[in-house]
Amino acid sequence: MNEKLFFDYNAYLIREINEKKFFLSNKYFNWFATTESGMRILELLNGSNCTNEIAQILSKKYNIPYDIILKDIDNFCNNMKKNGLIGIQPPNCITYYQHIFLNIINNHDIMSEENFNRILLTLKDKIIPNVTSIFLFGTDPLVHPQLEELILNASKSKCKLILWSTETVSQKENIAALKGKLDEFIFTFKYKMNAFEQSPDFPILKYCYNNGFPFSAFIKPSKINIFSGNTIVDFLSKINAKKLYIENPLCSNDTYTMKDYLSFEQQLLKKEIILRFWQNKKISSPVTSVFPMRFLCQNAPHRICVKKDCGCNHNIIAFDPTGKPYPCYMYIDSKKIVTFKHDKSDCSTCSYYFLCLGGCKALLDYNSTQSLDELCDYTKALYESLLFEI
Ligand code: SF4
Ligand code: SF4
Repeated sequence: MNEKLFFDYNAYLIREINEKKFFLSNKYFNWFATTESGMRILELLNGSNCTNEIAQILSKKYNIPYDIILKDIDNFCNNMKKNGLIGIQPPNCITYYQHIFLNIINNHDIMSEENFNRILLTLKDKIIPNVTSIFLFGTDPLVHPQLEELILNASKSKCKLILWSTETVSQKENIAALKGKLDEFIFTFKYKMNAFEQSPDFPILKYCYNNGFPFSAFIKPSKINIFSGNTIVDFLSKINAKKLYIENPLCSNDTYTMKDYLSFEQQLLKKEIILRFWQNKKISSPVTSVFPMRFLCQNAPHRICVKKDCGCNHNIIAFDPTGKPYPCYMYIDSKKIVTFKHDKSDCSTCSYYFLCLGGCKALLDYNSTQSLDELCDYTKALYESLLFEI
């Protein structure tokens, strides 16, 4: 009660919505909501007042009995202290990796078994214990000549092991020996207009389906598949694909706009909710979940928690076939980078910076400013609805 308390008032932007005060801090990467009275207390926590003095000031100002107000102020301050919002240092940053991406094959470049083992050995003690998933990925990892040996070694880590093929060309022979050795297979699904009606020819997916392999599909948004989301998910649900992974949107004027991409993503996510609801009553077969790859990142809009950056080199680390590390798998194929525009100056005054952290660093490099503005508007609207309407 006699402790001088401090709250870093100037480090917060305050938004007033429905009579609640939302404090959002880009400095401490946190947010909280309080009332008008809470805000009055916080104003006085400048490091030279203790709760007794604050109670005296407020009881005089608002003509409320001192004893009553002192109890409320004590409760409020204890609660704030418990949550680390007053009188203590900002929270520690997140310094562990959750996902490791090993690019074991990139067209003709193949990661040697020696390189692969060396990377895992380096990460073994300090990094691997916190990792949840290891992605063995590339243009078609199934054609890697030592794939079985790599899997055997990676499986010692006890992490979820995922094989992600971004350009699947393999036939079923390459997968038969891997049954039970991986937690998930992700295969590229190249959607062609009317392909299903004519002659559905997805041998590897059909093989997985017929032989009980847990598999998911992966698509790169394109001007063809982006307008056929429903048909794709319907087909994948029929063949028991667990998830549909969608690569981060790389837009240009002659392919599709960010607006097209976002409405495609929204439509599929809504469809999944509806199907799952109806599934309880009418649909007996499983429904394919939709998973935009950007949801893996720390700054995915639905992840409302303390974060220090988008996940680039914190949440994610990636290695190319030579063993060179990258802050994110998106950067391995740097030929894709079309622009270098780190000039989103409005981020510094944005109330949601502490959650969004300026968006995806890689998308900032790959996409045009115009498409990023569309993503930014969408992100802001999503945060508004997630924070203030729940
Ligand atoms: S990208 Fe947009 S939503 Fe994200 S911090 Fe910057 S201005 Fe805010
Ligand atoms: S660069 Fe983009 S894809 Fe990579 S971690 Fe950051 S937000 Fe995610």
